[in-house]
Amino acid sequence: MHCPFCRHPDSRVVDSRTTDDGTSIRRRRQCPDCGRRFTTVETASLMVIKRSGVTEPFSRNKVIAGVRKACQGRPVTEDALAQLGQRVEEAVRATGSAELSTHDVGLAILGPLQDLDLVAYLRFASVYRAFDSLEDFEAAIVELREQLPPTNLRGLDEDLGVPAPVPATD
Ligand SMILES: [Zn+2]
Repeated sequence: MHCPFCRHPDSRVVDSRTTDDGTSIRRRRQCPDCGRRFTTVETASLMVIKRSGVTEPFSRNKVIAGVRKACQGRPVTEDALAQLGQRVEEAVRATGSAELSTHDVGLAILGPLQDLDLVAYLRFASVYRAFDSLEDFEAAIVELREQLPPTNLRGLDEDLGVPAPVPATD
C-alpha cells in the first residue's frame, strides 16, 4: 500500500505480529522513501448484514454489548463476557463466509451463552426468537431441561423463582 505520509507506492514490513486471539495480524511498515513508519492490520473480511439491509463489519464488541445487556444482575464477569465474544467470533469465522446475517450471529451466541448463564440465555433467546408469551418461555425451559444434564440446570429454578419440588414422603 501507499505510504500515508508521502504516497510512495511501496513500503517495507519491519515487524509482524499476530494478535493474542489469533484473528488478525499487525504489521509495522516503513516507507523506503520518507522513512516514516505506520501500522497495518490484516483480518479476514467478515461483514454482517443487518435486518435493514445495511452491511457493517463484524464487531466482537457489539456481540459483547448485546450479551452484557442480557446478563444484567447476573453473576457474569467481564472476563467471561470477553471469552464468550471470542468463542462467538471464532464460530462465525469458522463458517468461512465473508458475509453473515444478524440472525446467524445471534445463533452463534446462543450456545456459548447457554453455557455461561441460563437466565441470561433465556433473556437473550426471548429477544432473538421473538418470544411473545409466557408459554414461549415455558417451552424454552422445557427444551433446556431436555437438552442439559441436571447439574447444568442447578440454580435455574432458584434464579427463576420456581419453588423446589417437594420430595415424596411415602
Ligand atoms: Zn513515505
